[in-house]
Order: sequence, then structure tokens, then C-alpha cells
Amino acid sequence: MKLLQAFGFVVISFKEGSILDKERNAAISHIIESVIKGWEYRNELQKLVADTPPTRTVLDQTADELACSGIKVLALDFDGVLAPHGADQPVAEVIEWLERATSVFGQEQIFILSNRPFGPRINWFATHFPALRFISGVRKKPFPDGIKKIEELTSVRSSSILMVDDRLLTGCLSAMLAGARPCYVRNPYIKLRSNLGKELFFIVLRWLERFFVRFLP
Ligand SMILES: [Mg+2]
Repeated sequence: MKLLQAFGFVVISFKEGSILDKERNAAISHIIESVIKGWEYRNELQKLVADTPPTRTVLDQTADELACSGIKVLALDFDGVLAPHGADQPVAEVIEWLERATSVFGQEQIFILSNRPFGPRINWFATHFPALRFISGVRKKPFPDGIKKIEELTSVRSSSILMVDDRLLTGCLSAMLAGARPCYVRNPYIKLRSNLGKELFFIVLRWLERFFVRFLP
């Protein structure tokens, strides 16, 4: 019996090790892709930074304005764009913006494309915007897989999809790789009191991204 239990422990440990290895490999490949493609698309990224005011949030453009500019589908990052990092639901002003966006585009044309498509936020959206979909099971941004999946689900060409993201080398770069339009949120939601370590990490990361992009030859 003890031998069987020991065997079971070894099998479980091995399986857990495999999952961890997969996650680690996925994280490494998404960082490598960010650097390689970031270099390749450096001129586009430099222009995006130069054209984006430091105060830019998701609220700056109304759904009506976006629709007038030819946008048919929204792909929204969650952390930083709709709410501070790790939050379970969007902030109040974003909920209002989403309500207007769903009446202009329809809930079926709005997607959450986050590298963290899990947790209580899924339940919150299922209750309040039941037809709005999370994209999961794809390689993390900057791989363009998420936007390509949205293109398939909606039959809307990527050039009419707007990817709103607070990260240059993940969401905005994935939009460029997929042929979609990036909206760079330079003034993300941050709540230091509730998530100090993570928020500081991402403040530094966003600054490093801009530094990397600006000083590329
Ligand atoms: Mg984000």
C-alpha cells in the first residue's frame, strides 16, 4: 500500500512538473517573441508611442467614435486597461463605457484578450455581459493567435479589430503582427494599496518597454 502511495506521489509530481515546465516554456517563448518582433516592428512601435498622449485611457474614445473610424470588433486587455492589476471587475467608469460599447457594437463583437483569462472576473462578465467572450487556450500576446481567433469567430477582418492594451510589447505588438489596430493605454489603472508588488513590477516593465522601443536605432 505504501509502495502504491509512493508511486502515486511520484506520478503526480511528474505531472505537476510537466505542467510547470510547459508554463515556463510558454513564458520564455512569449518573452523571446516580444524582443524579436519588437525589434522587427520598432518603427511602428516608436510611432505608436510618439502618437499616444501620456494620459491615454480606454475612455478617451467613445464607442461611437470608434465605430465611425471603421472599427467593428473590440479586443480588450483587462489588467491596467479595464481595472487595476488582479481586480475582479472593471472600474465603474469603464463599466459605463462598456455598456455604451455593447449597444454600439453588440456584446458578441467585444472580447477580453488578456494573458490572465481566469479567476472571478470570468464570473463577473458572465453575470453582467453574458455574450461578451474571453479568449483563452491560445498562445500569449504578443503572439497574434488571440486576434486571429477573434477574426475567425466574428468573420471580421483584422484591420477592423481594435486591440486596446497597456503593454507595448505584448498587446500592441500582437495587434501589429495580426494586422489589427493597436490602441496603447499609457495611463493604465493602478492601485498600489491593494497590489503593491505587482503594480510596481508592471510600472517598471511598462517604462522599460518604452525605453527599449524609443532607443532602438
Ligand atoms: Mg494589461
